[in-house]
Amino acid sequence: MANSAVPASSRKLEGKVAVITGGASGIGERTARLFVEHGARVVVADIQDEAGARICAELGADNASYVHCDVTSEDDVAAAVDHAVATFGALDIMFNNAGVSAAACYSVRESGKEDFERVLAVNLVGPFLGTKHAARVMVPAHRGGCIIGTASAAVAVTGGAPYAYTCAKRALVALTENAAAELGRHGIRVNCVSPSWVATPLTLGHLGLDTEAFEQAMEAVTNLRGVGGLQADDVAAAVLFLASDDGRYISGHNLFVDGGISVANSMGMFND
Ligand code: NAD
Repeated sequence: MANSAVPASSRKLEGKVAVITGGASGIGERTARLFVEHGARVVVADIQDEAGARICAELGADNASYVHCDVTSEDDVAAAVDHAVATFGALDIMFNNAGVSAAACYSVRESGKEDFERVLAVNLVGPFLGTKHAARVMVPAHRGGCIIGTASAAVAVTGGAPYAYTCAKRALVALTENAAAELGRHGIRVNCVSPSWVATPLTLGHLGLDTEAFEQAMEAVTNLRGVGGLQADDVAAAVLFLASDDGRYISGHNLFVDGGISVANSMGMFND
């Protein structure tokens, strides 16, 4: 990669090593790029091999390495964590970000069991495995660490997402809090971010909209006006804040990145 645009004195992750699941697209990709700008070396762990490898090539082999990792496979997650240690010498930040949407179905009577289990496997079991294997290498390394998950504003906006997605993300907050309680004694902070709605392949595919139509639809229900829609870069900035020393005393926290929609109203799909 060309020299970072962030001056050395302002870099927030100099010398840190991160694994980013779901780093080949959307929020994960933007976070990988921002982390490298701030001096981190990143392992992009994803199932989109071509995109992941291309992003890492753009970032440069000294800064980024791609590894195929299906987060529902414990062997894959363990291998991704071990790859970070073997390639870059340590693991400081685990960003459990990979996720899928559920079928666009808001009725419990029509929700499918297979869909429910698939979404839980990726969006909840994946972060559980990521937390487990990050702790496996962070605790004995005695250099602290930071584990961050991507939850969703759906944890607070009832009816805003399908059952499987809502349940997985709410349980991810519980996982975050539990792990923060356990791992704090090792100097490891555990947090999550809860974005509202960003135009990424996940949401566009779920709603069957293009970016422009998506942003118009979100504009109609958003709370914060006059600043444009939520972007993946906004979420990446929140993740950087939690991962860096700026967030050094924050643990067990779910940081909403939602323009206040979670406290302002329900955008419930059941509203007329
Ligand atoms: P995205 O589709 O752009 O990125 C998701 C990434 O996860 C993709 O690269 C995909 O290949 C990867 N992935 C999917 N299944 C995987 C698996 N089994 N193993 C490894 N990687 C896998 O979507 P995004 O919006 O950037 O989503 C990132 C996270 O943000 C997800 O957890 C999502 O639930 C969450 N989120 C997104 C929004 C939004 O509006 N986009 C809002 C709240 C939370």
